Amino acid sequence: MQNVQQPQKRKLSDEIIAEDEDYQRDPEHPRNLIPEICRLLYSQEAMTGSGGAISMRRNDKIYVAPSGVQKERLQPEDMFVINDDGDTLKLPLNGKICRMSQCTPLFLTIYRLRGSECVIHSHSKRAVLATIISSGNEFRISDLQMIKGIYKRTENRNYRFGEEVVIPIIENTPTDPELQENLVKAMENYPDTCCVLIRRHGLYIWGTTWQQAKLMYECYEYLFDIAIQLKQLGMN
Ligand SMILES: [Zn+2]
Repeated sequence: MQNVQQPQKRKLSDEIIAEDEDYQRDPEHPRNLIPEICRLLYSQEAMTGSGGAISMRRNDKIYVAPSGVQKERLQPEDMFVINDDGDTLKLPLNGKICRMSQCTPLFLTIYRLRGSECVIHSHSKRAVLATIISSGNEFRISDLQMIKGIYKRTENRNYRFGEEVVIPIIENTPTDPELQENLVKAMENYPDTCCVLIRRHGLYIWGTTWQQAKLMYECYEYLFDIAIQLKQLGMN
């Protein structure tokens, strides 16, 4: 058996080395995009205090940022590379001693249930406020143009003006991995959704591509902002 396994290991290693060379030439490689989008969200106060994380998939490899780091200073070499089972294929290239994001089990669940290529977890203040002004376990919004930026999964199209977007809200837990059970239930009960809100914590958003995930993040944030301001104005 060892004779069979050794060439496979060598092949994977060569493949990873080639991919690492790729990221230096490809600005859209996950190693470059994750730090870039983390910096952007940090500047919007959605990833301050080391909160939040982003993961991206490229073919059979999943890239995950480290935990508890300064999000605006992430470097391409800081990423962990794992497979669908969560096995580590590559540690940070710079030899930094750090842990993988605590959100990793949730990222893997979302990849498995939705076949996504990018998951964003943020502690956005708008998302947190949206969960506080929503008394039940759903955030609902309609009659806004930006709804058209949200993907309706079961119909394989974006929402139309006049339709209602419903986002499930799950209760917070002491640690992110403990959110897993309720995240799965919410995704099963709301097959259209590309977002799950976590009460007084933040959100998870995913997309078929990184572009879709990022654009929907911006649309959801806009919708939360409008809902908060409408509430302040005493309107619904
Ligand atoms: Zn979190």
